[in-house]
Amino acid sequence: MTDRLGMPRIGVLALQGDVREHLATLRTLGAEAVPVRRPEELAAVDGLVLPGGESTTIVKLADRFGLLEPLRVAVHGGLPVYGSCAGMILLADRILDAPPDQETIGGLDVTVRRNAFGRQVDSFESELDLAGLEGGPMHAVFIRAPWVEKAGAEVEVLGRVVGGAADGRIVAVRQGNLVATSFHPELTGDRRVHALFVDIVRAHLAEQASASEENT
Ligand code: GLN
Repeated sequence: MTDRLGMPRIGVLALQGDVREHLATLRTLGAEAVPVRRPEELAAVDGLVLPGGESTTIVKLADRFGLLEPLRVAVHGGLPVYGSCAGMILLADRILDAPPDQETIGGLDVTVRRNAFGRQVDSFESELDLAGLEGGPMHAVFIRAPWVEKAGAEVEVLGRVVGGAADGRIVAVRQGNLVATSFHPELTGDRRVHALFVDIVRAHLAEQASASEENT
């Protein structure tokens, strides 16, 4: 357990999307980063990243690989999960502008609108202030990104768009061990969101370790 605290094992759901960039970023932060494609692999990680990609495809593949239900159980059981872009959609309890049969993993009490920024601005970049992250605004890259249209009472809003047509839209949230961003920090070299997530994973491991000590 001591080793896991020092070097937590963090999975990246590796069915589709920008898996490699997340693995690389997590490794630079001292995590053992591993791709996750099977339920046994999911069971062996201390935290999980859901990468950007195409949420409709990822959720279909997750179902086909027998991962959808284990993912729901893991999130429900408190596994720390960070979802970026399509990953945010996967964590949402409610989604808009999705095919009627599109399922999610859920866990985040939010309503997320897919491709929310509209066709004209498929992709754009912006400077964001993120609550709790030191070091000034973050350069955020949005690619056919979703936003959080409504957030429940337990959800902490970490960041909003400033200026332009999407002014004030929520693009980064946290609820307990779940973190989600509309944008892709794995593409810019700014590691602060990943570092926040690795801290959450370490804190969760420490809690589990002290709980199991109390029980022995
Ligand atoms: N538009 C994609 C979806 O709905 C998300 C885009 C992304 O992850 N870059 O899944």
